[in-house]
Amino acid sequence: MKSTTEIAVVKSIAEMRDWQKHIKAQAAGEQKPAIGFVPTMGALHEGHLSLIRRAVKECRHVVVSIFVNPMQFGPQEDFDKYPRPFEKDLELCRQAGAEVIFHPSAQEFYKNGRDSSTKVIPPEELTNRLCGLSRSGHFTGVATVVLKLFSAVLPDKAYFGEKDYQQLCVIKRMVDDLNLPVAVEPVPTIREADGLAMSSRNVYLTADERRRAPELYRTLCTVREEVTAGRASLSDALKMGRERLSRIPEFSLQYLEACDAESLEVLKEAKQPMVILIAAKLGNVRLIDNLVVRS
Ligand code: AMP
Repeated sequence: MKSTTEIAVVKSIAEMRDWQKHIKAQAAGEQKPAIGFVPTMGALHEGHLSLIRRAVKECRHVVVSIFVNPMQFGPQEDFDKYPRPFEKDLELCRQAGAEVIFHPSAQEFYKNGRDSSTKVIPPEELTNRLCGLSRSGHFTGVATVVLKLFSAVLPDKAYFGEKDYQQLCVIKRMVDDLNLPVAVEPVPTIREADGLAMSSRNVYLTADERRRAPELYRTLCTVREEVTAGRASLSDALKMGRERLSRIPEFSLQYLEACDAESLEVLKEAKQPMVILIAAKLGNVRLIDNLVVRS
């Protein structure tokens, strides 16, 4: 295990398991959960750090994984150019209080090749909508890698951002369906001052696109306000939101929908809790965001 100051980088599954066995043996009788886990693809920002800080507050030891998972990228997507500032990420994790960075190679993780590997296929009722429509196989890649990460790290609690709301639903469902002994903890979305949801992909935006990007969040807020103030039905508010974005030529809207916050069933009429979700391309950059509406 290669150590930097107060943080360790673990590259193999066997070493990761040895560490967690040792930690769990020490933790017997402790009140706090032993291992909190934050899976990421790196290029860390305040959104990731809020997950890590929550984990540090709630758990005795925190593992952050940094793994750009080839299985969740489509052939035309940005796997090769995805940012990988590893040393900077390591320092941010150290400052946030993480103890171990799990950083396997793709070879270590997909020994039999990613295509012939056993996969976890989440139920269609969660994946045949929203991001699943334009990202075929994406949630299979996500569920598979998260299960593999869980079985290497064996965490007590795992932290996921509401920013990737459909992903969060897929993970919760996998944990439930497969009886995994992990508590999934959702963490609210962290935004820039102008409302843009933080994302590792925001660095791809040109200056002009960056100025326009908060329009996604503004559209979500307008839909929520129209509906909760009773000024418009849900379908009219969504229609207005779609029209508003279609008037900005730089945006190519993929979806703007409202869904049941648990089942992700697409709603025709407002109910609570519900989640309003949006995805659009701005130039070449695909952005997603959502707002949970709770009473
Ligand atoms: P990623 O590195 O994009 O795979 O994200 C790793 C984790 O960080 C996922 O659980 C994301 O939902 C979460 N995350 C990403 N962006 C944000 C954000 N702006 N606020 C809160 N959580 C986030």
